[in-house]
Amino acid sequence: MGKLMKALVYKGKGTISLEDRQVPSICDERDAIVEITLSTICSSDIHIMHGQVELAKEGIVLGHEMVGKVAEIGPLVKNVSVGDRVIVNVETFCGECFYCKRGYVNNCDSPDGGWSIGCKIDGGQAGYIRIPLADNNLKIIPEGVSYEQALLVGDVLSTGWWAAELGELNPGDYAVVLGAGPTGLCTMKCAQLYTPLKVIAVDVINERLEFALSNGYADIVLNPLEVDNLEATVKELTAGRGADVVFEAAGGKDTFEQAWRIARPSGIVVIIAAYEDDPQYLPLRTMYGKNLTFKTGGVHANSCDVLLDLISSGKLDVSDLITKTVPLNDIIEAYDAFEHNKKDIIKIAITPYEYDE
Ligand SMILES: [Zn+2]
Ligand SMILES: [Zn+2]
Repeated sequence: MGKLMKALVYKGKGTISLEDRQVPSICDERDAIVEITLSTICSSDIHIMHGQVELAKEGIVLGHEMVGKVAEIGPLVKNVSVGDRVIVNVETFCGECFYCKRGYVNNCDSPDGGWSIGCKIDGGQAGYIRIPLADNNLKIIPEGVSYEQALLVGDVLSTGWWAAELGELNPGDYAVVLGAGPTGLCTMKCAQLYTPLKVIAVDVINERLEFALSNGYADIVLNPLEVDNLEATVKELTAGRGADVVFEAAGGKDTFEQAWRIARPSGIVVIIAAYEDDPQYLPLRTMYGKNLTFKTGGVHANSCDVLLDLISSGKLDVSDLITKTVPLNDIIEAYDAFEHNKKDIIKIAITPYEYDE
């Protein structure tokens, strides 16, 4: 019997439980074991809990956003050493296949390629995690960058960065972001790096809009429930033309339609939301002549190095999204709060399990 740790386990549709698990060990020469110092809950975890992620395996340890300290490495691991502080990339990737060579790491076709951690293989809402292909999937946190500052790099901040890249923003553009949750807010922060004229945040929760405005994520905020016509309001705010780039990070019932309606002719619509319901309608006859470009999908998290450099140099910081911190002991209550208390909570940082002395 090896050492035991606490881990949050997906038990099948609707059920999660905090259980004792064996501390993972090296299975492949390229693996590393990481001791988790901070993890967090993502809306994808909530989707898994509700049985909405078909790939998710029953019995796996949840969690795909975390940072920690390298505890053990396999003999072929070269890029990290025991004791290094690291971020974990949400996607596992080989670095050698057709897709990896082109930067499409989400589509990596190796056995554990793409989003596997906390979905198809054990995740990091636990004491320790085994990371396959550790040379690709771990990045050392630069000195002077805290675990809190690095926590979101591997997943939600990577998503915001990737979205901003897809948006092909030009200086002076109007960018509209639908959804001021963690993904939308990270998208706003990354979009700001392209010096748009205005970033406009749209959400139905006023507390989140206030957060976006007062913390420098957005320049203008809009609650669609408080305006007569969102399309007309956005037009007024964007020199009469509509948004140059729309980022759809809300995934609501009608937010896909809002996204293409508020885009200007020949604009770009970036869909990073994960919808709970299919299908979303693309009314090509109605939008004929609007000549929109749509880009969709799940992040290719291949820019963690750049993000860590930007954080290290003080040009990017989203650690203020962490609005609550609790130990792993309280993670089940934290899932509930993250899902239902969107007014007060943006991201919850989970610290290691506290054992009774
Ligand atoms: Zn996630
Ligand atoms: Zn690959």
